[in-house]
Amino acid sequence: ENREFDVVIIGAGAAGLMCAAVAGARGRRVLLLDSANKVGKKILMSGGGRCNFTNMHSTSDNFISANPHFAKSALSRYTPWDFIALVEKHGVPYHEKKLGQLFCDRSSKDIVRLLLDECDAMGVQVLTHSPASNIQLGAPLSQAASRSPHRLQTPRFSVSCESLVIASGGYSIPTLGSTGFGFDFARSLGIPVLPTRAGLVPVTLEPKQLRKLQGLAGVSVDTVTAASGAAFRENILFTHKGLSGPAILQASSYWQPGEALEIDLFPGLDLAEHIHTMQHQRPKLELKNLLGEQLTKRVAQRWCDLWLESKPLEQLGKDDIQRVVSACKPWKVWPAGTEGYRTAEVTLGGVDTNALSSKTMEARNHPGLYFIGEVVDVTGHLGGHNFQWAWASGQAAGERA
Ligand code: FAD
Repeated sequence: ENREFDVVIIGAGAAGLMCAAVAGARGRRVLLLDSANKVGKKILMSGGGRCNFTNMHSTSDNFISANPHFAKSALSRYTPWDFIALVEKHGVPYHEKKLGQLFCDRSSKDIVRLLLDECDAMGVQVLTHSPASNIQLGAPLSQAASRSPHRLQTPRFSVSCESLVIASGGYSIPTLGSTGFGFDFARSLGIPVLPTRAGLVPVTLEPKQLRKLQGLAGVSVDTVTAASGAAFRENILFTHKGLSGPAILQASSYWQPGEALEIDLFPGLDLAEHIHTMQHQRPKLELKNLLGEQLTKRVAQRWCDLWLESKPLEQLGKDDIQRVVSACKPWKVWPAGTEGYRTAEVTLGGVDTNALSSKTMEARNHPGLYFIGEVVDVTGHLGGHNFQWAWASGQAAGERA
């Protein structure tokens, strides 16, 4: 049996669901396919189960791409306020956690429900357990005899369609069924795919360095953490394998193997001057106790054991103070690697934006074929930006497909 649709979307994650609803609202006959047993699994697990669905301060500066201008058009035409309006229309309660990050009050399920309700209202047909296979692109519409030149196979029937949208996500969290299907498909058509790697991911340390930090797992410290020139004011978290926490996740998207992470443990403070001042105000105070006020007792004690000598502040000389500054501003760490796609929130790299229209996400050399969401070489910072890209790119394609 062959069924005809105007638009077929492969992948019912954030981008695919959004695109389906928008195309459906234009009166298009839309089929949304997902290989998994339910839609939006990443939405469900996101934000610790509360889905950080957007960021009020999201701008194109919050995205990483070989072409930093590419995302601007779609992001400016579908802003965080557009998604907030949708959330409010569906009566989903939400709150700002910090730094403009908006989370559901109740559960990520509210966001999946909202998107499915939109799809339902627009007559979108949603099929789970439905990987697409045997995809054959037809000739562009203008030259084609058929209005539905593209063909593909689902487990239950074959499909022909006018527009085909790839919204299959990246490699992160393979246990959710992320296979890199979209990257392989693009390559098979000769569409360039920029090298992919894990982003927003904890870093691991060599055993020797881990031993030095043993016992600190679970402790977090406010920092400015920098990699390759990008710096983030957030917490780091010591783990059993290395370092995590929002500052590390953010920096991991910029970090290159072999490079150091520069972790300023006293952000916004001139540490040498602070010690000088304290030498006068509290001369008997032990160095470790002064450091502990910012670093936590455990980290300060460990820093003194490893690299410094804790003595009363009045006994610290110029060299001692210099040593403290060197060990803390910044603390330089050379990660062994990252935890990889197993725990990464996103995949960096992907379908080369030069091959796509920034207005519609349509492939330049393949009319009627679109790529949206994480499969594209646009990756957001931590804090709701990745969903904002999924909504915005989904909207852009949905308006045209
Ligand atoms: P996905 O959501 O990955 O959806 C792709 C879909 O395609 C999947 O449902 C998959 O089953 C399906 N699929 C794949 N191959 C095929 C195929 N061959 N045939 C049919 N279907 C297929 N971002 C934020 O902004 N805020 C957060 O709070 C946040 N938290 C996160 C927490 C975790 C643990 C993770 C892993 C990510 C988080 N992210 C967050 C990132 C965000 O989830 C992704 O950027 C976003 O889901 C990407 O949307 P997408 O639609 O492009 O891809």
